[in-house]
Amino acid sequence: MAWFSRLLADIPGVRHAFLDVHESSVFDKSRIVDIKQVHGTDILNFTTTPHSRPHVDGVFTSVSGQQIGIVTADCLPLLMASRDGCFVASVHAGWQGTAQGIIQQSVKRFTDAGIDAADIVVAIGPHIRPCCYEVSSSFLDVLLATPSAEQVRQHQQKLFLNVPRNSNAHSARAREENSLWFDLPAFCQVHLQVAGIRSANVDWLEKCTYCAPKELGSYRRRTHFPATKTQQVSVIVRGSECSGLST
Ligand SMILES: [Zn+2]
Repeated sequence: MAWFSRLLADIPGVRHAFLDVHESSVFDKSRIVDIKQVHGTDILNFTTTPHSRPHVDGVFTSVSGQQIGIVTADCLPLLMASRDGCFVASVHAGWQGTAQGIIQQSVKRFTDAGIDAADIVVAIGPHIRPCCYEVSSSFLDVLLATPSAEQVRQHQQKLFLNVPRNSNAHSARAREENSLWFDLPAFCQVHLQVAGIRSANVDWLEKCTYCAPKELGSYRRRTHFPATKTQQVSVIVRGSECSGLST
């Protein structure tokens, strides 16, 4: 199975997919630009195949026909495109990369290429949601020691919950006393807003990786219930023509 964003699908020439674990397991990863994801903030500006495997957490390109993508378990997979279809990006954003500024770095790639932030469309695939993301209370202090401290202080009530939100039969059970539940997508949303992305241009697939054991891999779930490692691939590619001046 694969999921698609209507906002991205509406951009001429751009094709994309958020693959589930079954589709991901048979997907030929040699079709996408090979990167080593390191929970950092660097984004590769892909023009030609690099000599060595770059340690980056995102790829940005205007090369038509070249698939780019990321592999995730609980982190957020972001697929991005300029509304004119000339530029695309794939980004792996967990709490670490988001706290360090990967979302702003991704947007900067587009604005450096002359695209207004208001003309960037972002689709976000499956990720761990606040039904399942238990953190210790000291995690707040960890985030307050990152470049995102101001945003965390400002949105603390929204980001940290005392009880899980929208939990269900598959959700993670509390493992610690006095723990909190972190809203990773809300953290991402705050950063998208700071980077100037309009909320109307953001498409969320509100599917929790932990809660969907038959379809999605979850790092957190495997720490609770040992199982074979599975991950999901998210891919995007631009077409041979785009409506902007840069082709
Ligand atoms: Zn969940």
